[in-house]
Amino acid sequence: MSPDSAQVSVRLAQEIEASGPISVADYMRVANTAYYGRADPLGAEGDFITAPEISQMFGEMVGIWLSDIWLRHRPATCHYVELGPGRGTLAADALRTMQRFGWEPSVHFLENSPALRAKQLQAVPDAIFHDNLDSLPTDAPLCIVANEFFDALPVQQFILTQAGWRERVVVRDDGAGFAALPGVCATDDLIPEQFRDAALGSIYEICPDASSIMQQLSARLAKQGGVMLVIDYGYTQPALGDTLQAVQSHAYADPFNNPGQLDLTAHVDFFELANCAKNSGLLVAGPSDQGVWLSGVGIDQRAQILTASNPTRAADITAARNRLVTPGGMGTLFKILAAYNQGWPQPAGFGL
Ligand code: SAH
Repeated sequence: MSPDSAQVSVRLAQEIEASGPISVADYMRVANTAYYGRADPLGAEGDFITAPEISQMFGEMVGIWLSDIWLRHRPATCHYVELGPGRGTLAADALRTMQRFGWEPSVHFLENSPALRAKQLQAVPDAIFHDNLDSLPTDAPLCIVANEFFDALPVQQFILTQAGWRERVVVRDDGAGFAALPGVCATDDLIPEQFRDAALGSIYEICPDASSIMQQLSARLAKQGGVMLVIDYGYTQPALGDTLQAVQSHAYADPFNNPGQLDLTAHVDFFELANCAKNSGLLVAGPSDQGVWLSGVGIDQRAQILTASNPTRAADITAARNRLVTPGGMGTLFKILAAYNQGWPQPAGFGL
């Protein structure tokens, strides 16, 4: 165990000792804040790889998609906002593409990791950082992008026991690690009717932070105008299931061991995100499969152009395109949802 991991484990253990078991969400929040704060976890030599790190084509498609809306709507100004920008690669590729269409928005990043903020500044030197949503500009429409951001937010879990639904809580296990057990308080009222009588052991998840962020941003878009694009792995209808997972060095690991040393994620509830947007009066496109959206926005044409100017990289470009688009790669696992203000153009790529 590294010193960092030991520190996070000691802190969590002390908290559990002092106040009793903590929720899975509190555990995940402490673990992920430490994990992202300590270093850059992305890339082939890190723990996991994301679409913008696979190929520049991903960020370019986001840039083309935004430029298309901007050209059709022509707001006087418009801010680019990205949630959890990682290394800033997506933003750099998107902004370079947008510049070709004559659009140079101001750039705002919501990011809480000091290590990643430093990387993002190298990729996008003019970026303005935000600790929370309140400080985002209020004077113009927002074009908001979130790739693999919502999956990092803490989920609460509920489990159906013989005695009814209980929140899953985290305790110390016999060794140096932690374990999740059903808590003592009844939580049946928090479970949607349709799932109350599920099979014993069923798990129901919610992500209050995701709902809150989506609600706040939707309210902003309804007031200021703009669009939001959310890309992540997740489900499109309400569902049961334990989706909490840990990844370290590109392999699955036990989420309840070594907190702060591995990436904890949960699948994103796109049904809930879409509802938050609709409740604010926004229009929604998708969720659609990432592969369908990328093809609709023009990734194949871009791949051809890139190959023509870099013939020696043809095989790499095709491999990256396939990884992003095909069902065996990220094409169907990843979903994409757009929310946009009434009166704004219908976004491309959703087959509307
Ligand atoms: N979007 C990037 C990185 C995904 S990893 C890419 O596609 O490559 C998740 C990102 O969200 C990291 O930048 C992480 O530091 C950030 N993040 C996670 N939780 C956050 C939170 N609560 N507030 C702000 N940023 C957060």
